[in-house]
Amino acid sequence: MQPTSNAFKENAHLALNDATLQRAISKLGFQAARAAAIARLPEFDKLREQARAIKDHVLANLDLYLERYEAEAQKRGTEVHWCRTPQEARDAVLAICRRLGAKTVTKGKTMIGEEIAINDYLEENGIVPVETDLGEYIIQLRHEPPSHIIAPAIHLTKDQVSDTFLTSHRQYGKTRRLEEAAEMLAEAREILRAKFIAADVGITGANFLIAETGSSVIVTNEGNGDLTQTLPKAHIVLATPEKLVPTLEDATTILRLLARSATGQEMSVYTTFSTGPRRTADRDGPGEYHVVILDNGRTALIGSEFQDILRCIKCGACINHCPVYNAIGGHAYGWVYPGPMGSVLTPAIIGIEAAGHLPNASTFCGRCESVCPMKIPLPKMLRHWREKEFEKGLTPQRFRLGLKLWAWLARRPRLYRLATRLGMGMLGLAGRSKGRFRTLPLARGWTEGRDLPSPEGPTFHSLWAAQQGRGRP
Ligand code: SF4
Repeated sequence: MQPTSNAFKENAHLALNDATLQRAISKLGFQAARAAAIARLPEFDKLREQARAIKDHVLANLDLYLERYEAEAQKRGTEVHWCRTPQEARDAVLAICRRLGAKTVTKGKTMIGEEIAINDYLEENGIVPVETDLGEYIIQLRHEPPSHIIAPAIHLTKDQVSDTFLTSHRQYGKTRRLEEAAEMLAEAREILRAKFIAADVGITGANFLIAETGSSVIVTNEGNGDLTQTLPKAHIVLATPEKLVPTLEDATTILRLLARSATGQEMSVYTTFSTGPRRTADRDGPGEYHVVILDNGRTALIGSEFQDILRCIKCGACINHCPVYNAIGGHAYGWVYPGPMGSVLTPAIIGIEAAGHLPNASTFCGRCESVCPMKIPLPKMLRHWREKEFEKGLTPQRFRLGLKLWAWLARRPRLYRLATRLGMGMLGLAGRSKGRFRTLPLARGWTEGRDLPSPEGPTFHSLWAAQQGRGRP
């Protein structure tokens, strides 16, 4: 994976021609599951409004809530680490691991961990990270990045997972090729049990940080997060500032939207609240509890045209409903966050210069915004990124010239109408015999993949004017 815009087109071509990938992503069942879950919740839209208001309020008062969160967390024995850059976050994690003499670290699913490439960093420093979410475990064995923020191995078929287990689990004496998903799950559980017990440090993400109690919250379906954070000497949470909500009640309001929007479940199987390290009377829990809060450019978005993306709760609904994602999968996007939310967030983190193709990888169909539980105007922000790209002179020269020509024409309405009438008339003549174009000069990229119906003759303007009874303008 390369975080470069040049690689996107090549990645997309490869993905479209990868029959195994196409088979795997054609089975995504999240859309139907979400629709059914929402149909069972009449107050869904009301909850969306409430959730949006909660996050907007936090973003408008972020400094206050961050201070409150830190004070409450410290009161309960938590150490909060403020990090501006990925390197600072990596170093904070490594320093804790080194102090505790950690040799292995278990990990629950954390996209911030992916963002800072914590696994590579730990390995470079002699510490073995072990992913414990089943999907993350599978892709770690395959040395691949996740292809979806909630279903990291969604790009793989059952046969591929079976082959991976056969190769990777030989070292544990497992030599039978497994056919059934349940068998694979049982084998992974057996191997991971020992890793949970041996781990010195556990790292998880956070779905929420709660200001009034200094707690962090994770949702999982496998219980791996609980074993990751409860058994080792220390629990490290990787989070970002916008994960904050003021109260426990606010977290539960948004939780009602999260799983329904993600997988179509009413709630995830496990919702775990963590508040500080183990107390004297507690029977279990980590001896140390650290929260690493990474900014990485996020607070700079406050007050900008991209602020709304900070409401994102990483449910994945926009990804699941995106026609582009459903055609090419997640790896083609080239960085940690795929789909519409990634195409807005990634340029904010790694820069529009490196991620310019992402805001252009959209049909602007608007499905992402319509399904987003946090009512995030994703297409609007994709447009803003395109504007930034244009302002910085990053848009291809041909495209800029085309836009300039269009703008020149659009400022001259009579000429514009004449030109479009002539253009439509000529295209209508050229394509009328077949009714559609198979190839069209200057539009080969479009017609290679789909038909283009030939115009019927009149332009929109002339039809509209005729309907208004004014004849041709
Ligand atoms: S942008 Fe909206 S739909 Fe997409 S992951 Fe974030 S909250 Fe979910």
